Formats: sequence, C-alpha cells, structure tokens
Amino acid sequence: MNKENKFSSGIKANLEEVQSRIAAACTRSGRSLQEITLIAVSKTKPVSLLQEAYEYGCRHFGENKVQELTQKDEQLPRDIQWHMIGHLQRNKVKYVVGRACLIHGVDSLRLAEEINKESLKKNLISSILIEVNMAKEESKFGVAKEDALELIKEIAKLPAVQVRGLMTIAPYVEDPEKNRQYFAGLRYLSVDIMEKNIDNVSMDILSMGMTGDYEVAIEEGATCIRVGTGIFGERDYQLV
Ligand SMILES: *Cc1c(COP(=O)(O)O)cnc(C)c1O
Repeated sequence: MNKENKFSSGIKANLEEVQSRIAAACTRSGRSLQEITLIAVSKTKPVSLLQEAYEYGCRHFGENKVQELTQKDEQLPRDIQWHMIGHLQRNKVKYVVGRACLIHGVDSLRLAEEINKESLKKNLISSILIEVNMAKEESKFGVAKEDALELIKEIAKLPAVQVRGLMTIAPYVEDPEKNRQYFAGLRYLSVDIMEKNIDNVSMDILSMGMTGDYEVAIEEGATCIRVGTGIFGERDYQLV
C-alpha cells in the first residue's frame, strides 16, 4: 500500500461512485442531473472530512444536530448550504433559522409556528419541508400521509414560513426495492397537494433516498437525496 492510499479517506472515490450512480438512475428514469441535489450527510464526521468533500465539489451538507451544524458552519466556507435534516426541537429553532437553507423535518404546527416567529424576528422567510411518515413506523417522526394536507393548510397561513415540498425517511431495508412504494407514495402525495394550489406552498422539493436506496428514490422523483455513509463511510457514534 502506498502512502497516498494509506492516508486516503476514500471520499473522492466514494463521491465519484455516488455521482455515477446518480447519473445512471437519471438516465434510467429519463431525468436530468440538474434536477438532483446531492446532500452530503456529514453528521458525526470531523470538519476535516467535510472540508475534503467541499474541495471535491460538495456544497450541500446535512446535519441532524443543531449544535453540530452551527459549529461546523462556523469553521467552513460561507458558500456551503446547510440542511437541517434531523428532528428539530422548538427551543433550538433560533439557532437554525437564518443558518440552514432548508429545514427538512417539520411535522407539527407548533414547530412551524416557532420557525415563523423566529423568522419574523430576523426579517426573513424560512424554507421548510414537511416530513411524512410513509411507512407508519412507530419509531419515526413525521406526519401521517392522511394528515399532511391539513397540516400544510395550517402552516401555509404563517407569513414567514414557506413550504417547499415533502421529505420522508424510509425504513432501513436490505432490498431498496421495498422502499419504492414509499417514494412513489410521497410523490403522489406531493402532486395531490400541488393541485390544491395553496398560497405560500410549493411542492418542488422531494427529499427522499439515503445511501441504501437513493437510486430507487431518484427513479421515483427525488429532487434531494441525503447520502452519508456512501460518501463518508460508516459512522462511529462513540466518537460524538
Ligand atoms: C443519517 C441520515 C441520512 C444519511 O444516512 P446514510 O444511510 O448514511 O446515507 C439521511 N437522512 C437522514 C434524515 C439522516 O438522519
């Protein structure tokens, strides 16, 4: 093993692999590469690895903890777009509004109201996605798909919050085909909601697909995929 390999993080090769799979999934489904935003999910990973991914072209990063997001943001280039992809507690909203370009996991009116309040204070409009629990998993956050429209109608009344689309976290499965139904279901739901023409609501973002299933998600219409392990390798939660 030469020196370079020994100390290589593998990020460059991983990114190339992910990018070529994204391209293949786009070709299979007749979509354009420009429709897909790759979010590098960097939770638990050190800033040095994010810097490396940045050097290879990544500009969208996803974190699920507020403190980690803010600390990393302060150490990295200003043109990074941060995505809050985890469950956000209301008392931490103030740290995220104005910092994250998109808050993915909104699943209650109370949380949206807090985001609205903080956005008004800062004189800006926050883009959010509504998280839908497509597989009805008890352990997961997200609104039931039957309740999504009602929730969105309420959130739409808040002046400083803009609903931009939907997000889902599919179950962990060995065979990604098993999640196709949930991705397709999220897309159908977004079309239904779009057809209601609600003021202040657009459905141009579908955030779905992770390392194990992003290709299927792209085939089913994902516009944002959230890839962690596939770019940075396995996470070691003991380090954080
Ligand atoms: C951790 C995480 C991911 C990335 O998961 P990988 O399987 O490592 O790609 C994506 N989305 C959310 C919401 C996450 O918390």
